[in-house]
Amino acid sequence: MSHKFLDETTVPANPAAALRYTSSMSHRPTHLENTMPHPQLQMILQQMPKAELHIHIEGSLEPELIFELAQRNGVALAYDSVETLRQAYAFDNLQSFLDIYYAGASVLLHEQDFYDMTAAYLRRAAQDNVCHAEIFFDPQTHTARGVPLRAVVDGIYRACQEGPISASLIMCFLRHLSEDDALATLEDALPLRDKIIGVGLDSSELGHPPEKFARVFERCRQLGLRLVAHAGEEGPPAYIESALDLLNVERIDHGVRCLEDPLLVQRLAREQIALTVCPLSNIKLRVFDTMAQHNMLELLDAGLVVTVNSDDPAYFGGYMNANLLAVFDALPLGLSHAQRLARNSFTAAFLDPETKRGYLAQVDAYFAGLAL
Ligand SMILES: [Zn+2]
Repeated sequence: MSHKFLDETTVPANPAAALRYTSSMSHRPTHLENTMPHPQLQMILQQMPKAELHIHIEGSLEPELIFELAQRNGVALAYDSVETLRQAYAFDNLQSFLDIYYAGASVLLHEQDFYDMTAAYLRRAAQDNVCHAEIFFDPQTHTARGVPLRAVVDGIYRACQEGPISASLIMCFLRHLSEDDALATLEDALPLRDKIIGVGLDSSELGHPPEKFARVFERCRQLGLRLVAHAGEEGPPAYIESALDLLNVERIDHGVRCLEDPLLVQRLAREQIALTVCPLSNIKLRVFDTMAQHNMLELLDAGLVVTVNSDDPAYFGGYMNANLLAVFDALPLGLSHAQRLARNSFTAAFLDPETKRGYLAQVDAYFAGLAL
């Protein structure tokens, strides 16, 4: 699954390799793909309109805000400074990350705290030219600490209503907890139904297959909620299949392990099931050892609806554009891939068809207007 590093400015001597640069191009002359200077591609990645579909709002909590909220709420932290907290981010697998993630979330107590956290993320996302975000939140992380669900949802929702970008909420169930706990959380959320567009499934994947949550997802489907689930990150491709067949999800979060099952890849391509891939997260959590080994190019070459996202940006070393830059820096990806990723982010979004067409037109106008 590893790639040989090819610089963006390199013109491959082998015609077959040259084709890899251009296989998915729509209308641009092929030479641009190979001769465009790298700084220009960086600028395009930063400036192109895009959507973010895989962001856990609690994972956008920067150490500075954790300290500010701890002080405001009188919460004692196990770290005596912003620096020591940042240093503690040297986790090496999903579980050690989740341990510090939940510790960080402990400072969130009031509606205003959730508002402040979300407003900070939305401002930051706007700087990366994210036009639309579909934001995950973990209600059980907060209700288990006695925080009312209404404070969580109202705070996040109020910030989303105020902009500066379009945003909607996806409520995630923690898969290491029971399905009964998820069902109770859903019941709790019913009065807030209008503020939530969908539900997801996150937290420790291994040992907690999607089928564990079949009943609660069926109930959500009946309620008209959009459905997504994390699958095929640390768990096997079979989890992707059961998320599709037993939970009826419309998008797969991560899903990078799908390549281990060629029939599954064919199905994902045929049904155009989007994968919300998070490159920096994948490296930090050792799904891949290095970015050069990431399978983003294979996923794209397989015809999958791949999107790039930040997952937990405060913890994994970067927001949307940092993820794009890192993956384009390490892999032989070019202009056509950039446009495809920008388009995919809106194609896969839970937006009404007219709004979606508007964003796709913005992407195409942006790329058509480039002076290359
Ligand atoms: Zn995630």
